[in-house]
Amino acid sequence: MEFATFADRAGTIDDEAADLEIVAHVRDLLADAGDDTDEGAEPQTLELVARFAQGRVFPAWDSTTLDIGPSACYEAIARAAGTNIGADDVEERLADVGEIGDVAASYDFGGQQGLSAYAGGGTDGGGDDLTVREVYETLAELAHAEGSGSQDRKVDLLFGLFNRCSSEEARYLARIVLSEMRIGVGEGTVRDAIAAAFDVPEDRVERALQVSNDYGRVARIARDEGREGLDAMDLEVGRPVQAMLAQAGTVTDALEEWEEAAVEWKYDGARIQLHYEPGGSESAETRVFSRNMEEVTDALPEVVEFAEDTLEGPVILDGEVVAIDEDGSPLPFQEVLKRFRRKHDVAKARENVTVRPVFFDCLHADGEDLLAEPLTTRHDRLRSVLAGSDAESREAVDPTADEAVEGLSLLWRTDDPDEIESIDADALEAGHEGIMLKDPDSTYSPGRRGKHWRKRKPDVETLDCVVTGAEWGEGRRATFLGTFELSVRDGNDLETVGKVATGITDDKLAELTELLERHITAEDGQDVDLEPAVVFEVGYEEIQTSPTYSSGYALRFPRFQGVRHDKDPADADSLERVERLRAE
Ligand code: AMP
Repeated sequence: MEFATFADRAGTIDDEAADLEIVAHVRDLLADAGDDTDEGAEPQTLELVARFAQGRVFPAWDSTTLDIGPSACYEAIARAAGTNIGADDVEERLADVGEIGDVAASYDFGGQQGLSAYAGGGTDGGGDDLTVREVYETLAELAHAEGSGSQDRKVDLLFGLFNRCSSEEARYLARIVLSEMRIGVGEGTVRDAIAAAFDVPEDRVERALQVSNDYGRVARIARDEGREGLDAMDLEVGRPVQAMLAQAGTVTDALEEWEEAAVEWKYDGARIQLHYEPGGSESAETRVFSRNMEEVTDALPEVVEFAEDTLEGPVILDGEVVAIDEDGSPLPFQEVLKRFRRKHDVAKARENVTVRPVFFDCLHADGEDLLAEPLTTRHDRLRSVLAGSDAESREAVDPTADEAVEGLSLLWRTDDPDEIESIDADALEAGHEGIMLKDPDSTYSPGRRGKHWRKRKPDVETLDCVVTGAEWGEGRRATFLGTFELSVRDGNDLETVGKVATGITDDKLAELTELLERHITAEDGQDVDLEPAVVFEVGYEEIQTSPTYSSGYALRFPRFQGVRHDKDPADADSLERVERLRAE
């Protein structure tokens, strides 16, 4: 396909507002890309067209970038536009019109034949029309230019392309080069267009896209092999998959919708996807990708070492990399970032901040794709992958116990809100962000921010409540006051709104007992009445009406946040504020 044809079609799509029409145009574009199987050229034009329409040069799984900045692109445009034009002119026009495609289209290219010797790369074809393939090949050459002088070489190559462009071709070339295609062709559009162009079911295309992350290849297989071909596409170790995402949610909703919840700590780090292939393919044995599928292997040698020490068969694992201090306690997320994309002096950076991986999902193990398996099956598989031959003996252990498998996320299954609360409290105490709630039966949906994974909403507001009563604990905690009754002001009275028992460590309980004991006014069995003296700051998930408490309201999932030493009961929150927060 000529690049002029592509640009023309892109222009039509650009002018179209209706989604269905856009899909129809992309469908025709794909159908008309032609079959160059006989020429043996790879990738085929169809693949390139499917990518270019989205403004991509390389497949989504491929970390290769053009690595060319806007100013180099302006320079190439300026050079192709004529001897009197400089990059500053391009920048001025850009400031005026605001979009690089319009700027590129505003010049008259092609007059610089005498200079086309700069172009190289087979693009000085003497007046022949530029093809989609030539554009790709030149951009691929540009992407791989390395070493000293490579920036100049990149500008030369790009100049060579612009120099052969019409205005419309230049418009879309500039946009592709700067990743600013913006013609309204999203991933869903290409999916629907592939299905329509090659008469295959959308959901099969969707699945194929999820496993391959390669729109071009999926289009080609849909065309050449149909539905069977798509169904036969598998995950490939070494090619990153889009990460499944979480949305914010509450314990209440999770327990209402699922019979039970899988609860995990939410580790405060950066997402990683580990690909391990023993014996290695043409590239490395171990490759690590970020949430955006960029390769970060070299920045995280600890993860590579972990993989090489622990893993036996080929796997794709999903997890988080956290920074830890000398005692193994997690450090804030910013510390991970310092390590995450580091390209130089990794060994030195490692001395300052160590990272450790925690895996919570297993997408592929030993030749088997697990995306369609339920979460609990995938997590069991993950356990055996990480525990190796000891897996069986570790099957049913308490996940927090010492025997917990190294590198494995802790996962509890429960329908008990109190247990979830205490898991949350432990997570916070261990220095993590809180908890994730997952549907134990859910499959792995790459790239989806669905309801199957929920990060527990952080408390939006907190309330400052007066502690008006408490209960002595039991067993190990018998000498501590444990459950605290919370009240808010209503004029001169105090009305109860709930009880808080979670979010408090043993040390803290001892401290609170000492603080509150002297205010005890009456005791009845485990229950004590307290004179109003101490104010707690408490978080909660929501406020419900309730006959249980005298205020008529109850805090759902109240969590202790701290003592407001600076506040007297008279400064505590009022019933009016509770009513207002409930109404919000
Ligand atoms: P957020 O970035 O706030 O949308 O939260 C989702 C992120 O939490 C994921 O992308 C992971 O990087 C991270 N995370 C930490 N622990 C877990 C876990 N146990 N399960 C899933 N994601 C987790």
